[in-house]
Amino acid sequence: MKSITKKNIRTSFYPLWQQYNKFKAYLLRYPKSGNGFETVSQSKMIQYNKVRYHGAKRLFCYNPFVNIFFNINGDAIACCRSHQTVLGKYPEQSIKEIWFGKRFEKMREHMLHNDLNMGCNYCKLQIESNRFHSLPSMHPEEFASTKPGAYPQTMELELSNNCNLQCVMCSGRVSSAIRQNRDKLPPLKLPYDDSFVEQLKEFLPHLKHISFYGGEPFLIDIYYKIWEQIIKINPDILIFVVTNGTIYNRRIEDLLKKAKFNFLVSIDSLNKEIFESIRVGANFENVMHNLQKFIELTNGQLAISHTPMKINWMETPEIVNYCNNKNLTLNLSYVEKPAKYALWSFQPHELEKVITFYDNSEIKTNHNSIISSYNIKVFNEWKEQVQFFKTKNSEIIAKYQNINAEFENYNIEFKQSLIKLFDTLPFDSMGIDSALKLANNIIENTKITPALIDGMKIVIKNMNNQSLLKLPNAQKFLTESDLFSGFIKKEISEDQFWARYY
Ligand code: SF4
Repeated sequence: MKSITKKNIRTSFYPLWQQYNKFKAYLLRYPKSGNGFETVSQSKMIQYNKVRYHGAKRLFCYNPFVNIFFNINGDAIACCRSHQTVLGKYPEQSIKEIWFGKRFEKMREHMLHNDLNMGCNYCKLQIESNRFHSLPSMHPEEFASTKPGAYPQTMELELSNNCNLQCVMCSGRVSSAIRQNRDKLPPLKLPYDDSFVEQLKEFLPHLKHISFYGGEPFLIDIYYKIWEQIIKINPDILIFVVTNGTIYNRRIEDLLKKAKFNFLVSIDSLNKEIFESIRVGANFENVMHNLQKFIELTNGQLAISHTPMKINWMETPEIVNYCNNKNLTLNLSYVEKPAKYALWSFQPHELEKVITFYDNSEIKTNHNSIISSYNIKVFNEWKEQVQFFKTKNSEIIAKYQNINAEFENYNIEFKQSLIKLFDTLPFDSMGIDSALKLANNIIENTKITPALIDGMKIVIKNMNNQSLLKLPNAQKFLTESDLFSGFIKKEISEDQFWARYY
């Protein structure tokens, strides 16, 4: 006979509890706009509350009340997607000064009004496209509270970019290998030191969850010092490690036995060739071998992070089935930048192809598993978001009805503006004739599309109001012909065109 465990009870009652929360979503009294605050609409709150894993709640996000995120620059922020809103800075301020400081308070005030205007653009876009399951506001929900004066219950650390891979969609900001090899830049100066670990000790007794990002966390020395302190001070903390799965050794195995580790392993394809073309520097077999080890050592407390992009969107259904089969949680990651890899920079007809493929893919479910039904919801929301991209991009394209006539006008204006700009430059440049010849050559050889029209419009505007001169390296790219060509080509490119809308 099946034994009655806490997990079984939770599994049996969860669907009933979900129904209760769907009902509760309509009864809650949500904050209203006013007094300078603009709230998330009631209809979006109801939609969101229906899918919240830890039940319906009055507020949209509890991150600023329970979570603190330290990024590579020493910036303290509220979550992994709000890097623009810096709430404090290490080492200029101590962790305690930051957490109990004025900026955090201000962010909390916004959240008490469900106002996402303090740098929460990521969530705004996601809820606009009805994609709720991968919102970072979901992360600390288990500990949702607005209790004043409380210490954080969850913490996220991105203390170093030390990494062995050069994933195509990644940047030098979070990969030292990219910074060195692709960007040809010296290593980042990292602000985190032993004093940071020392200060953390006061926070550890209050923490329930702590997440470690990179770089590759298992290559970051300071993380080992923090794990040591966790084991000493509060071994009950759940430790989440977002790993590329390339590193596994005896030291890690020992750590896993002493503390409660959970993993989020990045798997962008189950096809060796595609996997290795995205995760540059990784070996597919090695990662899959390590993944199996992590599954065993954590008793399956592991999630797969998959990032659907232009190069691997067709892999997503297979990854969903893989997760369902192994009863692993699926996390679908969203590429904000670079545009050339992001699905949102596809043309509407290409997005239609993606939707059709997803609709025709067989998704295998494990009927007794909450995780499996969660994964399917995650996938369905992703499909909905692709549909949103398609609708949005179709509407954008529809605005460009008379592109041939527009081209004629902008082409003349472009030349006039360029002559005027180069005529008045306060430094020695490549000269009007060379610039005109180069620009003409590029424009005449580019297909007339909305991207070309839009790019020309932007460059004309920037030339006319001289704001182009304020761009970094302006003097250089107005002097060197290959840089000038690169600048024009970028501004009129498809990727840049879509990036202006996302
Ligand atoms: S970006 Fe989203 S999850 Fe992050 S603090 Fe803002 S609302 Fe919360």
